[in-house]
Amino acid sequence: MDTSTTTSSTVSQPRRAERLVTGQPTSDGAGVKLTRVLTHDLQQRLDPFLMLDNFASDDPNDYGAGFPSHPHRGFETVSYMLTGNMRHKDSAGHEGLITDGGVQWMTAGRGVIHSEMPEQNDGVMEGFQLWLNLPGKDKMCAPWYRDIQSPEVPQYTTADGVTVRVIAGESHGTAGAVQREATQPLYLDIIFPEGGGRFSQPLPAGHNAFTYVYRGSVDVAGTDVQRNRMAILANEGDGVTLSASGAARALLIAGQPLREPIAQYGPFVMNTRDELIQAVEDFQNGRLA
Ligand code: FE
Repeated sequence: MDTSTTTSSTVSQPRRAERLVTGQPTSDGAGVKLTRVLTHDLQQRLDPFLMLDNFASDDPNDYGAGFPSHPHRGFETVSYMLTGNMRHKDSAGHEGLITDGGVQWMTAGRGVIHSEMPEQNDGVMEGFQLWLNLPGKDKMCAPWYRDIQSPEVPQYTTADGVTVRVIAGESHGTAGAVQREATQPLYLDIIFPEGGGRFSQPLPAGHNAFTYVYRGSVDVAGTDVQRNRMAILANEGDGVTLSASGAARALLIAGQPLREPIAQYGPFVMNTRDELIQAVEDFQNGRLA
C-alpha cells in the first residue's frame, strides 16, 4: 500500500506519449554546441514553452565561448545546471554564478541585455535552458532575476526511492522554487534510483506537458522513452506516470497554454510583428534595457 501520497496525488488515467522527438544538434551564442529538444515548430503544441536546449560536453571547445552579451524581451529563461559553472550578468544589475544543481530564473520582460559565460576551463558542463512565454499583458513588465543554488531547490524522496527536485510548480505537497500564475509552470527533475521505480504526477488535461529523458530510459504508459528523447504527452487523463527499471533521470515539464499569437525574432518573443519591429528598434537605439 502506498502511504507516501495523499489521494489527490494519485493518477488513475495516465497520459500516453503522443509523440517522441529527437533533439536537433545545433550551436548558439558564440558557438556553444547543444541539442535543441524543443524546436520552433513545437511552440504551438507545447505553449507556453518556446524552447528547451540541453548542453552536455566535457570538451571546453564545445562550451568555452559561452553566450556573450545579447538581448531578450517578452519571455522568461530558466537555466538548470547539472554540472558546471556559469556566470550571469545583466543590464538590470543582476549578477550570479550557478553551479552544480542550481537554477537561474530570469524574466526578461521589457528588456534585458545579459551574458551567460562558463567559469571553467575544463571538465563537464551539463544542463538545460528552458524558455517560458509571458502573457501579452506581462511582456513589457520590469525584468526579474533569481538564483536558486542547489541546496535551495525544494526536493523530496518518495517511498519508492524516487527523488524529485521541484524547480517550479507543486508536486505531492512540495512547493517549487518559483510559481507563475499565468502559465502555472511545473518543472520537475525526477531521479530514479538503481533499482528503478515509479512516479505519478497529477496534471490538468488542458496543460501541455512533455518529459525529456537524459539518463537511462523511462516508460510512459507503455511507451519506452530512451535517453535524449522527449515524449510529448497527450492532453488527456488526470496525470502522468513514469516508471524506470533501473537508474534514470527525466525532466517533467508542464504548463497552462496562453493561446496567444507567438511572434519570434531570435531573442525577442512578442505577440505581433509590429511589436518585434519595435523590440529591434528599441535595441538598436539603446532603449531596450
Ligand atoms: Fe540569454
